[in-house]
Amino acid sequence: MQLQTALFIEPAEEIFARIFREYRPRTPLAGVDLAFKRYANANSAIAWRDSRLAVKLSDLWQGAPAPVVEALAHILIAKMFRKAPPADASTAYRRWLNRKEVRHTMQLVKQTRGRKYVSGPAGKAWNLETIFGELNGKYFGNLMARPDLGWSRRPSRTTLGHYDPSHHAIILSSLLDDPAVSRLAVEYVLYHEMLHLKHPVDHRAARRRVHTRPFRDEEKLFEGLAEAKEALKRLCASAHSHYWSA
Ligand SMILES: [Zn+2]
Repeated sequence: MQLQTALFIEPAEEIFARIFREYRPRTPLAGVDLAFKRYANANSAIAWRDSRLAVKLSDLWQGAPAPVVEALAHILIAKMFRKAPPADASTAYRRWLNRKEVRHTMQLVKQTRGRKYVSGPAGKAWNLETIFGELNGKYFGNLMARPDLGWSRRPSRTTLGHYDPSHHAIILSSLLDDPAVSRLAVEYVLYHEMLHLKHPVDHRAARRRVHTRPFRDEEKLFEGLAEAKEALKRLCASAHSHYWSA
């Protein structure tokens, strides 16, 4: 019985080999080394070494249906060759990640595996608890329950702040915990993350909508927005216009 069903299921290694040949029909492929890793998220990585494809996938992909693995193979291999993956592959990939049970599993895995570092709100220069209290009063009518607040371990230039729903924590880049950084800039990054608490990500859309229209409208209410953005731009001169991961 098992043998019979196995015939109908294409192993992930063969899927990756087949998609590779679509992109590089004349390049000899000696084999595919596929390993599932216990990551805290749906991460995956691919590398080309000595005519072999080395693929590392989060074990969250282990139970994924073959068409979803095929979509993932397209995305990873296209990325490796700096090409855009076919649109239907991207759609299938996102649809699967957005499925309720998949999101639920990911949330659980993140909670149990991801050791979240929360330093506490008091930094060297700025206290996030104080600033949170002020912003809560000024913009949220004191209605927002305080999440965990902390500074990132490493001073990230590309992610100045993020809200982590699975740990209910707002983490700001420790790059901002500096007396040389204006308080207004810190306030703005924290305000932006507080808006993420207020406007949860819309998972129903095939493409996750992170900064929705109401989100952006409310962001404009921040007093000194232009000045704060300018300060952050100077701070992250090397980074591009995308300051937040979410
Ligand atoms: Zn954001």
